[in-house]
Amino acid sequence: MNFFDIEIGEQLKSQLCSLADSNRFPHAVVINGGSVEKRQALARLLANWAVCGEKDIQNRPCGKCRHCQKASSDSHCDIIKAQGSGKTDSISVEEIRKITKSSVIKPNEADKKVYLLFEADKRMAPVAQNAFLKTLEEPPKNVMFILTCEKSGSLLSTILSRCTVFSIDGNAEQTPEILSLSKSIALSVVDVKEINLLLNLGKIADRKEAVAVLSCVSDIFRDALSLSIGSDAVTDRESAEKLSLKLTKSRLLSLIDVINSAISKIDYNIDINLLTTWLCGELRRIAWQR
Ligand SMILES: [Zn+2]
Repeated sequence: MNFFDIEIGEQLKSQLCSLADSNRFPHAVVINGGSVEKRQALARLLANWAVCGEKDIQNRPCGKCRHCQKASSDSHCDIIKAQGSGKTDSISVEEIRKITKSSVIKPNEADKKVYLLFEADKRMAPVAQNAFLKTLEEPPKNVMFILTCEKSGSLLSTILSRCTVFSIDGNAEQTPEILSLSKSIALSVVDVKEINLLLNLGKIADRKEAVAVLSCVSDIFRDALSLSIGSDAVTDRESAEKLSLKLTKSRLLSLIDVINSAISKIDYNIDINLLTTWLCGELRRIAWQR
């Protein structure tokens, strides 16, 4: 993937490159943080990547083909920007319904169609976000939705659980240790023995580590969800495959919601042992209830 002159962190760059170059890019994306200009520039670049006609996928966007030229002059008919209306430029429920309706129609010129919803945290009321859930959950083939926001925490957790979040300011640190513990936690949710989940959650040392580990666990469940709707995994395919075999889509969504809600509680100086004990109970209840 060509980034031209967009300056973003190396970790995010390599994550985006590996997804784009292997053509496994998620269908619903939230770009979070940074300045307005930076996150919108990245959103436009991803949209341009999606429509570029260059055969060598690693060279997209090529900047030369007719698709790239149209994209750079903001006139590509398969890159559709949510217009918004009124004083606050808000994206209404009606506009979301229009987007949903038009998204099932094949792209006009390119192989993919991209919808850009800039500053979704400020422009989409909860009612508009709710109207968008079903479409994000099962996006039509060849469609990409890209939302940008200043703080992803301002979006409904149900929106976040259906999107892959890329943070310009850097995602939570993912060291091999964090990844391995996250994997153990995710898999022990479906383990016959409940004690294994409690023991694994007990290995989280402090609040900072809790944010990193739980974000990663949430990503693994989102990967499982992606696989179960025929999309591809982003973080850990092996674990995602195991989980998607054992958990229904609605259980996966509930698990992601409860993990995100645990992450949001960490800000309030909560006792980490109490949090992990509570989380253990919730995760097991969702995964195992009949
Ligand atoms: Zn091109």
